Amino acid sequence: MRIVAAAATDIGHVRELNEDSFLVHDPLFAIADGMGGHRGGEVASNLAVETLQKLFDHGAADLPALLQEANRAVFEKSLRDRRVAGMGTTLTAVLLEGGRLRLGHVGDSRAYLIRDGELRLLTEDHTLVHEMVARGEITEAEAEVHPHRAILTRALGVDMSVEVDEGELVVRPGDRILLCTDGLTGMIGEPRIREVLTASTDPEAAARALVGAAVDAGGVDNVTVVVLDLIEDGPTDNPHREGPTPSPDTGWHDGRSDSPAPERPKPPRPQGRALPWKRVAVWIAAAVAVVVVAVVGLRIYLDSQWYVGVSNGHVAIYRGIPASVAGFDLHRVIVESTVPADAAEELALYRDLAEGITAQDREEADAILAQIRQDVSTVPPNEPAP
Ligand code: MN
Repeated sequence: MRIVAAAATDIGHVRELNEDSFLVHDPLFAIADGMGGHRGGEVASNLAVETLQKLFDHGAADLPALLQEANRAVFEKSLRDRRVAGMGTTLTAVLLEGGRLRLGHVGDSRAYLIRDGELRLLTEDHTLVHEMVARGEITEAEAEVHPHRAILTRALGVDMSVEVDEGELVVRPGDRILLCTDGLTGMIGEPRIREVLTASTDPEAAARALVGAAVDAGGVDNVTVVVLDLIEDGPTDNPHREGPTPSPDTGWHDGRSDSPAPERPKPPRPQGRALPWKRVAVWIAAAVAVVVVAVVGLRIYLDSQWYVGVSNGHVAIYRGIPASVAGFDLHRVIVESTVPADAAEELALYRDLAEGITAQDREEADAILAQIRQDVSTVPPNEPAP
């Protein structure tokens, strides 16, 4: 069995950077969705897939171990380079070994199997809203529009080690695997994904059509997909092939249990028709609720964000994010220091100070400011940093 692979990605309509990365390195495939201010997301997702590829080329073939190494590479980079401090990424990877597809997964990107026209989710989102759904606090439909749906409970590169979900699937010719970032699943639902995926036999066309559908549906996030078709055609050229003969389909399982991925509950279909005035009132109430939740959610989010930037020509600690929307600043100055910003910007490390150096919390922001103060005082003026 072999794989015919295709990938497509799009920055979308809203984001200024594409922070998604993908890897097509037969028989290893992956997608990653990076996060973190100041190019951190781009750096994290890139480094994660690069590390996978490099170690695989050096003979490592244990997928969970590869993800651990990618985690460490991203984490260590974030410690070394404070411009990308606090960055992280999702990572969903599959490796074809004989007749088996191995999976390693962290975050809210997803892997799907399409077999006999049925779409089956193979991964679990490591998100706050997924946990709320699992606890029965909100429905699947509510989760899809929840203001905190992007908050991850697990990501690669934010700690020294990470818990990696592992899985294994006995694949057969005709199977199609989809790897996608949340820019796809956040924009179009599973019925539409299934429809687009099954409409083209060519994986290249399917990948492009999926990304196009997500961008047309709003494209508020970067969207990336990898489509893998399993084909019966000669031996695979997997250099690490261990070659266990495929046993009857044991289905997908994770490290914790042998049970197949749970079926997703379908949201109930609304029935009957309400009177027009009643429907209008319901819609207005719903719209008001959405706005209130969005404003409160934004406030909570901004209050949890910190960065170091420039205020009145001085290095300053900000709460929020270094951006403005429709004339409203999404940040405020908490501390304006006496350290001149231009002295700091002369040092290579703080060259991009004006764009903001993100910190995980107030403590880290204080530490960055203290470090800048020290670095500025130890380097003689008008001399570039080594
Ligand atoms: Mn995303």
